[in-house]
Amino acid sequence: MTPRETVVVDMVRERLQAGVAAPSLREIGSRAGVSAAGAKGIVDRLVSQGVLARIPAARRSLRLADGIDLRGVASDALRAELARRGETLDALGAGTRLAFAKGAVTCAADCCQVQVERGKLFCRRHWFTLPRVLREDILRAFAAKDVTRYQELVARARDGIDSGRFEVWP
Ligand SMILES: [Zn+2]
Repeated sequence: MTPRETVVVDMVRERLQAGVAAPSLREIGSRAGVSAAGAKGIVDRLVSQGVLARIPAARRSLRLADGIDLRGVASDALRAELARRGETLDALGAGTRLAFAKGAVTCAADCCQVQVERGKLFCRRHWFTLPRVLREDILRAFAAKDVTRYQELVARARDGIDSGRFEVWP
């Protein structure tokens, strides 16, 4: 990424974390020191690289490509997912219009860009890479709405996948 592209990505991220609308091309241009047309060029490039994405037919629709669909996720799973990303529901602001796109959830494994169904954390391959005991514990914690336990188990699952520890499991 070029320094200007980094500025743009940071700007979109800041806005989304603040729970406000994504920046306009004019705002992006003024931050990055280019015209609105120049900003459009940068944004187009970032979208084609898969760093940013747009919600079709929506204004100010930019989001980070790894944004989660906040409308489709059960609140407990959402809390856990936000915590994983170092954010909270409070930080996003209750009642604010969120600029996350529909159907763009990716697998919770850091190494994985596979899209998963709404409400699911891992892609099928990674989910079944987890030891069965861990999978059952995750589902149980989710059903019991035990957010702390759920976050802990999901973190353990992610760490295991990221370190390749679970690859030996059938
Ligand atoms: Zn995956």
